[in-house]
Amino acid sequence: MYIYSIGMSSTLTSGVRFRLYPAGEVASVLRQWIGCQRFIYSSKVDEDHLFAAQRRLEIASGKTDVATPLDQQYAHFKNRELTPWLYEVPSQILRNGAVRWMTAKQRQLKGLGRAPRRRTRRDFNSVLITGELFRFVRGASGQMLIEPGTDSNPIGQVPFIAHRIYDLPKQIVIREEVGRWYVSFCYERKSDIILREPEELAYELNRLENADLSAATLGIDRNVRDNCIATSDGRQYRLDAVVLKRIKRKEIGAKRHQRRMARSQKGSSNRRKLAARLARKKAYAARARSDFAHKTTCTLATSPTRFFVLEDLQIPNLVKRPKAKFDEFAGKWLRNGAGAKAGLNRSILQSCWGAIHRTLAYKAARRNKLVGTVPAAHTSQECSRCGHIHPDNREGARFVCRRCGLEAHADHNAACNIKARGIERLRDGQYESAKTRKRVAFRRKSNTTGGRPAHACEGKGPRPEHRAERIQDRIAA
Ligand SMILES: [Zn+2]
Repeated sequence: MYIYSIGMSSTLTSGVRFRLYPAGEVASVLRQWIGCQRFIYSSKVDEDHLFAAQRRLEIASGKTDVATPLDQQYAHFKNRELTPWLYEVPSQILRNGAVRWMTAKQRQLKGLGRAPRRRTRRDFNSVLITGELFRFVRGASGQMLIEPGTDSNPIGQVPFIAHRIYDLPKQIVIREEVGRWYVSFCYERKSDIILREPEELAYELNRLENADLSAATLGIDRNVRDNCIATSDGRQYRLDAVVLKRIKRKEIGAKRHQRRMARSQKGSSNRRKLAARLARKKAYAARARSDFAHKTTCTLATSPTRFFVLEDLQIPNLVKRPKAKFDEFAGKWLRNGAGAKAGLNRSILQSCWGAIHRTLAYKAARRNKLVGTVPAAHTSQECSRCGHIHPDNREGARFVCRRCGLEAHADHNAACNIKARGIERLRDGQYESAKTRKRVAFRRKSNTTGGRPAHACEGKGPRPEHRAERIQDRIAA
């Protein structure tokens, strides 16, 4: 998992991640650093909540509001009696905890992320280390080692496996994931090209002729059932059969561990070992899917396509538990299908939908390509040639239109629909800001084709006699 983000200016944040092999004592010091950084982070979150509570009180009484100070102060969390352990780690580690909170808070204020929340061991297992607390040294056999700690008090030399070329970073992040250690090197560099805002990209795309725009656009359908990705140019991307087999095998292994863990004694070291092994079995699938997401989106982003269209999937809404049903006459709870839904939820969360969108978004943005979303309703039931929408059009993996007889692979048909909707939205100026939209509205008058542009896949437009029916279909639906 690489850390990338696109700044408003043309600086790129990128990184590389390597396996790290700290010895026992070094690992325990690193864990202590992680814990202390997490403590400062969570304390800053609590403090922010306190300020917010005070703000609510003061607003109620009509006084001015109290702003949360956006700073990196942490000294007031150090206390000889209450938090003596904080004195055992370098102060820079604590400060970086406050810096991490501040960055998260700033992202929230800019509308880029959610409010920072209290973290636990589960979701905060890394430590940000700035330049003054690590250096690179050469080991006996000539390989590079990382030496964390201050100049006068290093904690030891740690080998890492560099599987690719890297530059020396100004700051590093060390992370522990289910018993494995990783180090990320973070860089900031100027982009080779001037990066544009999505609105500008949309404006430029909108100036293309229909045929050029169609050639530059790619619809992407994410299928949960088969866990594959189909594109409107007829390609399919899926996890390797070998990897799928391995995931299956590890799932079976995980189940066995789960059973053994259920029988083991709580608090025993045997249980702890089993828990670690279980976590490792489960982590494999997550790593394989993340790898798949990165490789696939890299292939897509480096292709000549300039405009990617995805379905707008509200994943948190999709995976909600069904409401409990109560029969008032019989006075008992009814089946609500929560068990069956849990299985679907698992496959949605496992199918790396979110990861595909997220990784494609930044990989496209750094190449000045646009990623747009369209409403997901009926993309799999609509005919991509005549626009007829009916559930009967689907026959498992095949799509057969009941009206015009179009036969296609269901995912390919859906990807074509997504592409067509994306183009429709783009022509409508929906990916542009109010300022650029005005200019586009003026330009479009001389170039209007009306409604849907030329067909996404086969270059055929909707037949006029069908178009009227299609609109009626839409109204009826
Ligand atoms: Zn049709």
